[in-house]
Amino acid sequence: MTVQQICRNSWCKQSFEVTDDDLAFYDQVSPVFGGKKYAIPPPTLCPDCRQQRRLSFCNEFNLSPGSCALCKKRTLSQFSPKSLVPYYCRECWHSDKWDAHTYGRAVDFSRPFFEQLHELKLRVPSLALDVQGELQNCDYIHYAGSSKNSYLIMHADFCEDCMYGYGFKHDRSCMDGFYNLQCELLYDCIDCNASYGLIHCQDCINCHSSAFLRDCIGCKSCFLCAGLRNKEYCLENEQLTKEEYGKRLQTIDLGSSAQYQKCAARRKEIEREHPFKEFHGHNTERCSGDYLVSCKDTHASFDCEDVERAKFCYQVVTGAKNVYDIYQYGLKLQESLECTISGENSYHLLFTLGGNVSCSDLLYCWYMENAKSCFGCVNMKHASYCILNKQYTREEYENLVPKIIEHMRKTGEWGEFLPSSLSLFGYNKTSAQVYFPLKTADAQARGWQWDDEEAPPPEVKKTIDAKMLPDNQKDIPDDILNWAIRCEVTGRPFKIQPQELTFYRTQKLPIPRRHWYQRHLDRFQQRNPRTFWNRSCAKCGKEIRTTYAPDRPEIVYCEDCYLKEVY
Ligand SMILES: [Zn+2]
Ligand SMILES: [Zn+2]
Ligand SMILES: [Zn+2]
Repeated sequence: MTVQQICRNSWCKQSFEVTDDDLAFYDQVSPVFGGKKYAIPPPTLCPDCRQQRRLSFCNEFNLSPGSCALCKKRTLSQFSPKSLVPYYCRECWHSDKWDAHTYGRAVDFSRPFFEQLHELKLRVPSLALDVQGELQNCDYIHYAGSSKNSYLIMHADFCEDCMYGYGFKHDRSCMDGFYNLQCELLYDCIDCNASYGLIHCQDCINCHSSAFLRDCIGCKSCFLCAGLRNKEYCLENEQLTKEEYGKRLQTIDLGSSAQYQKCAARRKEIEREHPFKEFHGHNTERCSGDYLVSCKDTHASFDCEDVERAKFCYQVVTGAKNVYDIYQYGLKLQESLECTISGENSYHLLFTLGGNVSCSDLLYCWYMENAKSCFGCVNMKHASYCILNKQYTREEYENLVPKIIEHMRKTGEWGEFLPSSLSLFGYNKTSAQVYFPLKTADAQARGWQWDDEEAPPPEVKKTIDAKMLPDNQKDIPDDILNWAIRCEVTGRPFKIQPQELTFYRTQKLPIPRRHWYQRHLDRFQQRNPRTFWNRSCAKCGKEIRTTYAPDRPEIVYCEDCYLKEVY
């Protein structure tokens, strides 16, 4: 039986359904203390409002220069200079020079629990940037782990020599990309898998030495093509001989920014002729959602890879199972509900923001590593049986937690994720603003913070407007490293890094005219939104649910018609 609920947010009031499967899942993950199960109630907010609430705690891109509160070393940080959150550099945070237990406090049953958790979060030192695992020369990565020689990669793991990437997993020498998995030497690519040597490609699998492709599989040495399978030497979807192909390509110099832009615009035209599948992804069984790769029984989810039995999950990857309402990241996260940035061999995390590296049975925790059986704790490592960072025995813990749950039932907090008003970041600095953009007044009317502070410009003596740059990368002198370039869209100045310049020169690519965050947003806009529409297949007329809005120019086919067309 499906229950219809009305979203409790006064500005939303959308109706949403809670199915029997959903209820069975809430029952399955409801915690047990002293042999008694404490039922997690069905959600009071609709899936979108729940997603927005989780995202409002995640500042992925607005990083500021600052310094470690312990060793005073300069470090990049996720907290703005005005923020009251104390933070340590990675070395200090993981050292024995401090102990998160010393901040422990007793629960005050006369006040709401979330308030007390938030107060504690503002006292205990946080990590300057959220990073895990073995890192080498990666001082400027965030929401990332286990990487080498990489710079400004987010939502990324197991990368080497990568820069400006989002959703990079197992990549080498990739620059400027969005969701590239197991790739090498990619530039400016979106949703590419197991590929090598691609430029400005999107939705491609097993392709190499190609540029400006869309939705191609198993192609090599192709240029400006869409919807091809296992082809070689194609240009604008036309089969050429190897010699012809080589000759035609010699006339194209992608080192010229103007030529590069022309090719990108041409790809858009070619795509218009080509049918798109109703959803993105492959190797899925009994799934609904978009951008799903190798998933099973995964519903209402986006950007997931290798996930089984999941719902309302976003950007969860690599072996997550039995999970609901998760925003990032997975890596064998299991039996968990309503979490952000959690995973890596973690089990049974509930309403937790950041449960990392072999965590289990955490409730309402806010950044933990290697922790077990903790409730309402913040910034702890190797902890167990703690509540508000205070140490208890196992018996005391199992006695006290049910009392807190009772208290939270009365205050209306039990079963809810933290409210956005308790975020450590201005709403506009979080990923919520990307997916659910609001104006200042609207966010503030809901009691959410806003942060107008801009990141300080790079410390350089000379700044050049992007349009004043020489068109071709070969005419850009080494001295560009001492300059800042003013972004052609936002005017925000940015610097070129030495390893970046080397990449553009060896790959004969133009140097960017836009700030890296603008480039990220540009790529974000090239992907479909997390919204479904009814539309009919352009071939057979069958009703489909798709993330292609009905007024979009693309030709969209149902999966069956699409497969008949391309194979
Ligand atoms: Zn809602
Ligand atoms: Zn330090
Ligand atoms: Zn059809």
